Amino acid sequence: MTDKDSRYRFLLEKANIRGVIVHLDETWKEVLRRAQYPHTVQRILGHAMVAVPLLASTIKFDGRLTLQARGSGPVKLLVVQARADGGQRGLAQWLSEPPEQPLQAIFGDATLTIQIESGKRGEVYQGVVEADGDLLQDALGRYFENSEQLPTQLWLHCDGDQAAGMLLQQLPESDASGEPRDRDDDWRRVALMAGTVSSEELLSAEVQQLLPRVFSEDEVRLFDAEPLSFACGCSRERTSALIEGLGYTEAKDILQQEGQIEITCEFCNSKNVFDSIDVEAIFRSDSPNPDTGTLH
Ligand SMILES: [Zn+2]
Repeated sequence: MTDKDSRYRFLLEKANIRGVIVHLDETWKEVLRRAQYPHTVQRILGHAMVAVPLLASTIKFDGRLTLQARGSGPVKLLVVQARADGGQRGLAQWLSEPPEQPLQAIFGDATLTIQIESGKRGEVYQGVVEADGDLLQDALGRYFENSEQLPTQLWLHCDGDQAAGMLLQQLPESDASGEPRDRDDDWRRVALMAGTVSSEELLSAEVQQLLPRVFSEDEVRLFDAEPLSFACGCSRERTSALIEGLGYTEAKDILQQEGQIEITCEFCNSKNVFDSIDVEAIFRSDSPNPDTGTLH
C-alpha cells in the first residue's frame, strides 16, 4: 500500500453509498510497542484502533472522538481516541485473556461509549451502545443504524503488524434526478460485495486497485488519502494539571512519601517527574489561595 497510515474516503455515486477505508501500519505498531497484549486483547484493540478513524470520518468534529468500553469482563478497559487532525492513541487493560468473541465474553456487562468533544466550543456529545454481538463491528454498525438512521456496516481486521477496516454507509435519499433505483437492493448488493474482501486483501491491497475490483458494477469516486498517525497529546502541562487536581495537601503527602511525583502516561509510556520545587511552582502559579493556605 502506498500510503501506509491513511484514511481513504470514497463514494459509490450511483448507489448513493459512501465508504471509508482505514489502513494503519506504524500507528498500530506504536501502540503494540508500548504494551505486551495477549493475542485476543490485541485483536479487539486493533479493531477499535481502526473503528475510531472510520467513525470519525462520518462525523463532523474538530476535537476528539473517543471510543471506550469499561466493564466487568476479562478486558476491563479499552480506550481509543482520535483527533480531528488524524492523530490517534489507544490502550487496553485486561485481567485475563478473553476469548476472541463474543463481546460479552470479552468485556462482560459493558457499554460502548462514543464521546465526541468539540475543540473550540467545549461541547461534549455522548452516545452509548450495548457491547453485545460477536464482533465490535456488529455493535458499532448497530450504533449507527440507531443514531443516524442510516444503514451502516463495518469490517475490521488486524494482525500483529497492520490493522485495516472498511465502513459503508447509505447516504440519505437525494432529490437528484436520474434513473430511479431500488435503494435497498443497491445497499444489499454493495454490502455483499464488500463482505467478500478478505482480511488479507484489506490489510495489504492497494486501495486504488481494490475498490474498482470489488465494486466493479459501480462508479467509484476515490478522494485524496488523509494521513493518520500515532499521537498521544499528553504533555508536562497536562500532567501538571493532574497534580493540581490532587490538591496541594495530597501532592505534598506524595512528595513526603516518595520524594517526587512520577506520572507515567498509560497511552505512550512517557514519564513526567515532579520534585518539590516543581510542585510548589504548580500551586504558586494557580491561585492566591491554595487549599491549605500555607503557601507564602
Ligand atoms: Zn502520552
